[in-house]
Amino acid sequence: MDAILSRWNEVLKDMSNQVTAVSYDLYIETLEPIKIEKNRLILFASTLTNKNQLLKLHKNKLLKSVKEHFENVDEIVVLEPNEKEKYLNDIKEAEDIIETKQVLNDKNKLNEKYTFESFVVGKSNQFVYAAARSVAENPGKKYNPLFIYGGVGLGKTHILHAIGNYIRKNNPDMRILYVTSEQFTNDYIQALKADKKENANKAFRDKYRDVDILMIDDIQFISNKTSTQEEFFHTFNDLYQLDKQIVITSDKHPRNMEALEERLRSRFTGGLIQDIQKPDYETRLAILQKKVETENYNVDSDVLTFLAEKIDTNIRELEGSLNKVISLSSLIGRPKATMQEAEEALKDFELSQKQNLTVDRIIDIVCKYFNVKREDLVGKKKNKEIVVPRHICMYVITELLDVPLMTIGESFGGKDHSSVIHARDKIAESMKTNNSLKTDVDDLIAMIKSDN
Ligand code: ADP
Ligand code: MG
Repeated sequence: MDAILSRWNEVLKDMSNQVTAVSYDLYIETLEPIKIEKNRLILFASTLTNKNQLLKLHKNKLLKSVKEHFENVDEIVVLEPNEKEKYLNDIKEAEDIIETKQVLNDKNKLNEKYTFESFVVGKSNQFVYAAARSVAENPGKKYNPLFIYGGVGLGKTHILHAIGNYIRKNNPDMRILYVTSEQFTNDYIQALKADKKENANKAFRDKYRDVDILMIDDIQFISNKTSTQEEFFHTFNDLYQLDKQIVITSDKHPRNMEALEERLRSRFTGGLIQDIQKPDYETRLAILQKKVETENYNVDSDVLTFLAEKIDTNIRELEGSLNKVISLSSLIGRPKATMQEAEEALKDFELSQKQNLTVDRIIDIVCKYFNVKREDLVGKKKNKEIVVPRHICMYVITELLDVPLMTIGESFGGKDHSSVIHARDKIAESMKTNNSLKTDVDDLIAMIKSDN
């Protein structure tokens, strides 16, 4: 429980920076984290209204922060007092509860659940699987670098961890480093900013160059960042020359990563580039069956075929829908999940599909609203007529979308994540006292939400 609370405190800290003080006091601080069940964090809300408002206004932000601080948790369940009572009555203590400690891993650590054994192989990913296995069996010798690309939720992170877990087991002496490119960038920026430059640089180099296997997840986030790319280039070369294995994932093929420097592009293309595709029906079904088996879920079999048929976007959503079905059935106290819950879960999925809101679309709407040119809004002009709409735009994006701050910064001419935080906090603060600003923001958000 202490572990939950300390993580929860981190979430509270995050949230206090992201929502207004009123929202925070009413809907966030009053939440009570109860426990982690499988991949869900169970929270009690103090009233039904608070629960509804919380889910309506801040669900995405809260979920995002929870995911950041609670490894392996990817869902929150908020119970209002009536549900809480039922929940407490129903619950059989100690059953189904994963040891909290086991769940709370460091973010950049390998997730033990992501292994080759738990990875379902089908037409869409068989080549990636084969390449990853062969790299894991012969690190540094076969394909270097191995570059894996594909859309979100298709298994890139899973396969990276699988390589890492395999090597850790079979070559325990090898030093394995798994990081997201966001982490790499942050480490690099920290080293640049440090007072004692030499020490900081040494620490950075020790971390990144003193490894046998370097795995960088989501490399697309370093394109646009010239000095980070440069540093990565040197890291890459050092390791490569020593035959150290490098594995990289991205959402795109290197040739389609526009802001990537040419020399990195050519390094990336020097090894094996392998794509990972959307899974076909058989693979989707096999994934669901495997999950039900490993988690010991009790589900009608037509639920699985139904979900596998309908949810064809990616595996994360497929798993998310199954989790939703399970949590719905456990909430109404059903021992076995049925089509009724599946239909309900599908509705959620379809709704999320409709919200094809993007950073670009929000920028368009904000430009129109304030009658400013897009190139100015995302540019460098410092006059108030532009800066205020720019900050409002960033604020609104963080309110409505679940995208990394770095990505938002990139859409504004390559600003870093701290500029986005600054803009967001500034607007949140000013809204408390400046009514006309608040009205603008509220109007904009309403406009964006009704935009389709
Ligand atoms: P990406 O990094 O490509 O966005 P992830 O690796 O995070 O995707 O995968 C999303 C979820 O889907 C994870 O929970 C992962 O375990 C699961 N998953 C992806 N591919 C497979 C697969 N082939 N077999 C089983 N589970 C998978
Ligand atoms: Mg990933």
